[in-house]
Amino acid sequence: MLKIDNLVVAYGGIEALKGINLEVEEGKIVTLVGANGAGKSTTLRSVVGLVKPKSGSITYNNIDLLNMKTQDIVKLGITLVPEGRRIFPNLTVLENLKLGAYFRKDTNEIKKDLEWVYSLFPILKERHWQMAGTLSGGEQQMLAVGRALMSKPKLLMMDEPSLGLAPIIVNELFNIIKEIHNQGVTILLIEQNANAALHIADIGYVIETGMIKIKGEGKELLNNDEVRKAYLGEN
Ligand code: ATP
Repeated sequence: MLKIDNLVVAYGGIEALKGINLEVEEGKIVTLVGANGAGKSTTLRSVVGLVKPKSGSITYNNIDLLNMKTQDIVKLGITLVPEGRRIFPNLTVLENLKLGAYFRKDTNEIKKDLEWVYSLFPILKERHWQMAGTLSGGEQQMLAVGRALMSKPKLLMMDEPSLGLAPIIVNELFNIIKEIHNQGVTILLIEQNANAALHIADIGYVIETGMIKIKGEGKELLNNDEVRKAYLGEN
């Protein structure tokens, strides 16, 4: 579905990605884990055209994404939930959700998807009238995911969805990610919380200073000594 080949991205002469290869097969949950500054966000931002790579290729179902505009990439079915939520604080929850469907015209399907989002996140239904900026951090994260779902993605990419959330909310969020996946959405998840991410992932990649160091099945990586020491806080 998504194929990244030999991708190099440089910011002002410094290479943030030094030739990475990564593949997401349709129907899978893939996670990219790594420390701060390893290049995780840069990878996702490159896919949706927010960063212009120096070399390499990114294709989605064999369509070249590198010279496409972000809005055309979204129309193909790829949506990014950015780090830090980026909801519109002065709009209501419902208005934020409707904006997620901005490029869609299938009114009946949009209504169904709104009900689907409300069933995944009942709190958003309860608070649909509330200004999004007054939601709690966890609720804002749910709204960001809900808004992304309103664009009806085939590939949902999430940048650190668990950042800053209490452990109990993180669990809830990961269960919802599994549920979204069960409904047929392919997922590429970036996480510093390697433990939670590798538990739900079919395939995991470990990125270190712009290079993919390890690739394997999620469960395999949970048992990998190097991964355990560096990312799972074990000695
Ligand atoms: P984090 O988990 O901290 O967000 P990350 O793995 O997502 O980290 P990136 O945000 O992709 O890492 O950053 C990779 C490197 O590129 C870092 O050294 C960062 O400082 C640098 N970088 C990212 N964005 C820019 C930018 N717009 N201009 C200059 N350097 C940047």
